[in-house]
Amino acid sequence: MVTRTSGSSRPHVIVIGGGPSGSTASTLIAQRGHRVTLYERETFPRYHIGESLIPETFWVFEKLGVLPKLRASHYVKKHSVQFVTGQGKLSEPFYFADNKPHESSQTWQVLRSEFDHMMLNNAREHGVEVHEGARVLEVLFDGERAVGVSLADGDGKREVYADVVIDAAGQSALIQDRLGLRQWDPELKKAAVWTYWKGAYRDSGKDEGATMVMQLDNKQGWFWYIPLHDDILSVGVVAPFEYLFKNRDTKDHEQIYFEEVARCPGLQPRIKDATRAAPFRAAKEYSYRAKKVAGDGWVLVGDAFGFLDPLYSSGVLLALQSGAKAAEAVCEGLETGDTSEAQLGKWGPDFMQGMERMRRLVCEFYDGLSFGRFVNKHPDLKGHLTDLLIGDLFTDKVDDVVAPLDEFRREREYSRSVTAN
Ligand SMILES: Cc1cc2nc3c(=O)[nH]c(=O)nc-3n(C[C@H](O)[C@H](O)[C@H](O)COP(=O)(O)OP(=O)(O)OC[C@H]3O[C@@H](n4cnc5c(N)ncnc54)[C@H](O)[C@@H]3O)c2cc1C
Repeated sequence: MVTRTSGSSRPHVIVIGGGPSGSTASTLIAQRGHRVTLYERETFPRYHIGESLIPETFWVFEKLGVLPKLRASHYVKKHSVQFVTGQGKLSEPFYFADNKPHESSQTWQVLRSEFDHMMLNNAREHGVEVHEGARVLEVLFDGERAVGVSLADGDGKREVYADVVIDAAGQSALIQDRLGLRQWDPELKKAAVWTYWKGAYRDSGKDEGATMVMQLDNKQGWFWYIPLHDDILSVGVVAPFEYLFKNRDTKDHEQIYFEEVARCPGLQPRIKDATRAAPFRAAKEYSYRAKKVAGDGWVLVGDAFGFLDPLYSSGVLLALQSGAKAAEAVCEGLETGDTSEAQLGKWGPDFMQGMERMRRLVCEFYDGLSFGRFVNKHPDLKGHLTDLLIGDLFTDKVDDVVAPLDEFRREREYSRSVTAN
């Protein structure tokens, strides 16, 4: 059966997807008094990868009103990130508070099933009409303008109309695919295999919740090491897709995982006495970005706009930031009666520049940048590097690192060419 919404029940805004980007955008728009309906295909709590937050999420959490819940939660507190070389050598931790002595410099390692559920319930508490188990089948267009969605839930199929449709469907990215907007990143074609361990080594005190990035000895990839509550560690390897899945004898995730553990001297002693606490999971995680963030009557947020390699745990931050920036543009548009591409996409250039700053740092790591050597040579820039690592991406000041990074890259290229000859 197909039914149409009309009259006073018609939402102003439809949000597709109840992950961090969808719950952020919907909450902030509802806070301004607009009618928002959110459709989520799963029933929460549901599993999701992406457990490590970075400090700049704080400011969006504050707007959403979820800080009291996070402060009272059992999530492990994260104060720093630490790099471990392919030979197992630990770098100095980047303590976020050294650079910014503020409450925001402590963040959390979250269980996404719980965290996303809390965020979605918070949207409900702010007046968002949330439908779980409701899969959006397609976005409906009238010419170039998005006008609503068709969806299927327990009651069958129906169409719902609104002034603005926000695509927050994660990597499903309905609008991006329909309009052919997806641009794959030519450099970041990675994949990941991961599992969870109980009883693995963890530091104590301030270092207990540090995210560790541990390089493989062949520099092909790295492991994340994320301490969660209840003595669980999330540990996964990220490497080029071809390397991880194509150019080897096995397709078995467990075997691939342990072949890479054997190449990670930093990791082996940390998990040797631990028990595996979950099955292996794998994901192809090519980075991509849409050509634009909005069109007439539609906006893209979070992974439905773009996905960036998880090296610096920026995914949830970008989901929250894009959700918040899009919400502001949508509210302004609804309040002035202008839901054109120009209005809804106002925040796009600034956001893309911020994302590009993080991408640059990701690419430098894969090209062999040593943070230790960089900071030794430019101690005055350690603060800017930390700014990038905490997610302070939307400010020109961090661009001071660009010229020195270029210089370091030239030096690496030169020494590679000398070695090759
Ligand atoms: C291996 C890996 C490791 C990562 N590690 C980190 C990390 O440590 N820290 C970090 O910050 N980020 C990390 N990320 C990134 C992070 O997971 C994402 O960036 C983040 O979840 C994006 O949030 P979102 O709300 O945009 O999308 P999602 O969280 O994916 O939410 C989208 C929601 O939309 C729903 N949906 C999809 N299609 C439909 C439909 N048709 N109808 C209705 N609902 C729909 C889905 O069920 C889902 O609930 C990692 C990613 C990967 C792949």
